[in-house]
Amino acid sequence: MSIVTRFPPSPTGFMHIGTARTALYNWLYARRHGGKMLFRIEDTDRARHSEEAVQAIINGLKWLELDYDGEVVSQFSRTARHAEVANELLKKGEAYYCYCSPQELEEMREKAKKEGRAVFYDRRWRDKAPSAAPKDVKPVIRIKAPLNGAATVKDHVQGEVTVAAEQLDDFIILRSDSTPTYMLAVVVDDHDMGVNYVIRGDDHLNNTFRQNIIYQAMGWKIPEYAHLPLILGPDGAKMSKRHGAASVEEYRELGYLPEAMRNYLLRLGWSHGDDEFISDKQAREWFDLEHIGKSAARFDFAKLENVNAHYMKEIEPGRLLGIAKPFYKSRHNIELDDLAVKRITTGINELKSRAKTVVQFVDESVFYAKNIPFEFDDKAKQTLQGDAKKVLETLTARLNDLKSFTSSEIENVSKAISQELTGGKLGAVAMPLRAALTGTTVSPSIFHAAEILGKDETLARLKAALN
Ligand code: GLU
Repeated sequence: MSIVTRFPPSPTGFMHIGTARTALYNWLYARRHGGKMLFRIEDTDRARHSEEAVQAIINGLKWLELDYDGEVVSQFSRTARHAEVANELLKKGEAYYCYCSPQELEEMREKAKKEGRAVFYDRRWRDKAPSAAPKDVKPVIRIKAPLNGAATVKDHVQGEVTVAAEQLDDFIILRSDSTPTYMLAVVVDDHDMGVNYVIRGDDHLNNTFRQNIIYQAMGWKIPEYAHLPLILGPDGAKMSKRHGAASVEEYRELGYLPEAMRNYLLRLGWSHGDDEFISDKQAREWFDLEHIGKSAARFDFAKLENVNAHYMKEIEPGRLLGIAKPFYKSRHNIELDDLAVKRITTGINELKSRAKTVVQFVDESVFYAKNIPFEFDDKAKQTLQGDAKKVLETLTARLNDLKSFTSSEIENVSKAISQELTGGKLGAVAMPLRAALTGTTVSPSIFHAAEILGKDETLARLKAALN
């Protein structure tokens, strides 16, 4: 059997981190087995529908570098097919028209509440003769759920889960305006698309029992299921905005790499021994449903940062620069020109290994792209006060005399000056130099940076700082 998974998000305006993990697991499972992952947008909620929300999901997938097979399927475009199946179930005697008024339903709800029952619909139209139907009411269609016994779901993560028939009501599959309910639409689409593995959040486990009723009534094969525990915030509550970033978009903006995100999300709920860093290749070879954890995973921001730092070290420079470019613009309003790219590329290994995120990388390398005169931040301004003036003047003179402008020569000069002027404190020379060359107090080795900037630029920056 060729494995077909699916990713069927409801477009809510952003891609939640849990949705991203679900996509990743479906993708890995399909890729591991040479199967397919299909992509369906569950866009039947027309009142709240927006194309931007759909685009947010598509962008999220793209950023995570998860591809899918075939075209994007719109659930809404299949409404007629959903109604067709509802009518077929009616014909088979597996479903029936229900003409209850909102008021009747309310009464039933009240009654059930009093009696402490979760299921309230009393099935009053299940066996009524068609002739009893009122003429002026448009009916809904309800499925006939089993009246007794129990229903069991065999789940690859949760094991066997059973509920008693009393817990399952004759739920609506087609509304009176002929639009399908979620329960019907999902089953019909999964069946028609040939989906045989449903990997999704365990908030859908209760729906599974209901959806299986539809599969059985249609005589369709029930797919394999794997219900993933939720992702919790560090405090144990369902992961949401108040924990910090909850959407994929935000992690991108915070400067996380897609490969780090994949690795982190993979490990958040699935394990391969104690392995923390798992390459895409390994993930595609190893991912299985058996090692998905049964309990909810807690999001750990520090761990994510660690994983990201690992991938910052590994990333190929050209690719990093491609990812970083928009950040220079958005954070510093700087377009990288060829000279800046050349300088940053020369210093990239040190920059990369210091930076936990793309944002940090950009902030610590942007000085290479600055044009004189540039702004000094407050700390840099402070560093440039007092004795710093004398230090910078001396540095200017000595660096000007240097024949070979290499980081070791620059360092030697700085050391000599520190002996002469600052009682041997190298920092008292290096810090003003850093402030002068970068406009900040944080950067990679400033001697190395000066070499990369070159003699002319270094002297020009020193001069500007002295002014
Ligand atoms: N559209 C549903 C959601 O975003 C997913 C349904 C499913 O996986 O069956 O939660």
